[in-house]
Amino acid sequence: MTSAGVRFYVLQTFRLHGCDASKIGDDRRGEAPHCDACGKPLGLLAWLPPHQVEFEVCPKGYCDLVYPPHDDFLVSARFKEIYEREGLRGLVGFEPVTIVKLKRRRRIKEDPPPYFWVKAVRSQTVVDQEASGFEWEKDSPVCPVCREAGFLKRWKRLVIDVDTWTGEDVFYALGMPGEIFVSERFKHVCETYALRNAAFIPAEQCFGEFCFWEIEDWEIRTFDETLAVLQSWNKKGHFDHIIAAMQEIRDRVVADATYDWIGGLEERLGEKLDQVVDAAAEAHYRLVGMPPAPWNSRS
Ligand SMILES: [Zn+2]
Repeated sequence: MTSAGVRFYVLQTFRLHGCDASKIGDDRRGEAPHCDACGKPLGLLAWLPPHQVEFEVCPKGYCDLVYPPHDDFLVSARFKEIYEREGLRGLVGFEPVTIVKLKRRRRIKEDPPPYFWVKAVRSQTVVDQEASGFEWEKDSPVCPVCREAGFLKRWKRLVIDVDTWTGEDVFYALGMPGEIFVSERFKHVCETYALRNAAFIPAEQCFGEFCFWEIEDWEIRTFDETLAVLQSWNKKGHFDHIIAAMQEIRDRVVADATYDWIGGLEERLGEKLDQVVDAAAEAHYRLVGMPPAPWNSRS
């Protein structure tokens, strides 16, 4: 297998849109996967059968991929059929899911398709932590088996060490246990068949920042990103006056990192600026590399 040009993506399991499923019955909990060498947990507690869920259909109908707040996810019968026909690899399970309670929508008349519970394999494929710009807390030795250490402060991108790739199309990799990686082919199949609720980020664009207070110029970066968020929300021009006021006070924010610029703006414009608070929260999520907050899906 040639490694040249192999690209990986991260499956976006945290979605603002799409159907929702939550597991019913918390009693059937298995063990969390853990490292045999250092004992670190590598995921959440296993979800054992029977797989029963409360399901809420989204306005667009029944999705092919559904992500309960869990490591595992649900796939439709259509996904299962395509996955098998295309010979994709990396998912295990495919156990039937029972929808115990269904929240319907008036516009969606049909019944749900059969759903199956799946999980991605924990493969021996390794995330190249150096190429990914991992920064651990000081003096935190990395376990040679699971590649975990203490607190991970930040990473700039996710780079799979292609030489270690064990060939799965969907998998967890050693060194970044929380993300599900997929191959270019997996993404291609999902797009070809327009499978619903399959969204991907190129792995090299996945970053994380858990110690933002250590970042120089954090205040002005947040300010600029907030302005960008407001501009993207300003299709009807309702925020023109706020944007103009922000541009006027930018120099002051640059000069004084402690300046309460939202308070300053409210005073200047004589109104409560909840939308700026929302935009600042959204900006923060963008800057730390986390998905936007679900309570704040204006865009
Ligand atoms: Zn370990």
